[in-house]
Amino acid sequence: MEEIKKNITADADAASDQAGLAQFKAKYLGKKGAVTEMFASLKDAADKKEAGRRVNELKMFVESEYTRRETQLLEEKKAGELKGIDVTLPAYRAAKGTSHPITIVMEEIKSIFMSMGFSIEEGPDVEEDYYNFTALNFPAEHPARDMHDTFHIDETHLLRTHTSPIQVRTMEKYPPPLKVIAPGRVYRRDAMDATHSTVFHQVEGFMVDENIRFSDLKGVLDLFTKELFGADLKTRFRPSFFPFTEPSAEVDVQCVACRGKGCGVCKNTGWLEILGSGMIHPNVLRAVKIDPEKYSGFAFGCGVERIAMLKYGIDDMRLFFENDLRFLKQFNS
Ligand SMILES: [Zn+2]
Repeated sequence: MEEIKKNITADADAASDQAGLAQFKAKYLGKKGAVTEMFASLKDAADKKEAGRRVNELKMFVESEYTRRETQLLEEKKAGELKGIDVTLPAYRAAKGTSHPITIVMEEIKSIFMSMGFSIEEGPDVEEDYYNFTALNFPAEHPARDMHDTFHIDETHLLRTHTSPIQVRTMEKYPPPLKVIAPGRVYRRDAMDATHSTVFHQVEGFMVDENIRFSDLKGVLDLFTKELFGADLKTRFRPSFFPFTEPSAEVDVQCVACRGKGCGVCKNTGWLEILGSGMIHPNVLRAVKIDPEKYSGFAFGCGVERIAMLKYGIDDMRLFFENDLRFLKQFNS
């Protein structure tokens, strides 16, 4: 018995993988296995009971040797995999990207207006001349069109020069009251320099209802600039001209760099221009069949790049488009 058991142990130890283990099991317990054949020959034994007990003991021994070797092989495999690895080292962290500064500022602007109850609308980048100009009170051949250096696709289509067409599209779709902002990319045929780009971003906003007054415009934009740049900064409204608003105003905020004292960023004026705004021109309301005798509204628009530059102290607009990771990785949303 001891001799047979020694052989069984040696055979189990010789198995080096699952296939070897299967071979080992077959050699003893398979259809023609050694132990199986012993069971078959029991009928010829003198003391059947004693012989049966011994053969059974061998069968159990084979099974326990199988399990022992199997566990041993698994542990060796695990140890091999861990060899050369310092398990006390901290785990690798998945590299996490950062949001683009334009995206960060865009999201911030959206969330400020959404907290005031504005909803968001979008429009096409390739726009019809009608929505980009005509419906916004820029008649054909009007000199105000020259202020927008436009990329024309054909006679009636162009790359939108501002996000204001979304104002018209939204007013065509829904009746007042309306409180909407429209963020998006816009295009001008400008040469690229530190403060100009052929592609940039705007957020348009407008509100239309009965009894909307200039004081509502002032209240909303004053709150917006305070949320964006800080509650201690004052705003001021200067008369201006846009074809689609009357009266129109540029909105200045006290310089974010010097808090109004005067510095290089604000050219020593203490003020920075950040928004264009005004009361929606009655002709724009008429174009979308809203009665200007009953309804009034205000509209405004701001350049997202300009706001991001002021917020983060960036002095060259081209940095936004150059995909330099050393620049982009400095922004964390
Ligand atoms: Zn300043």
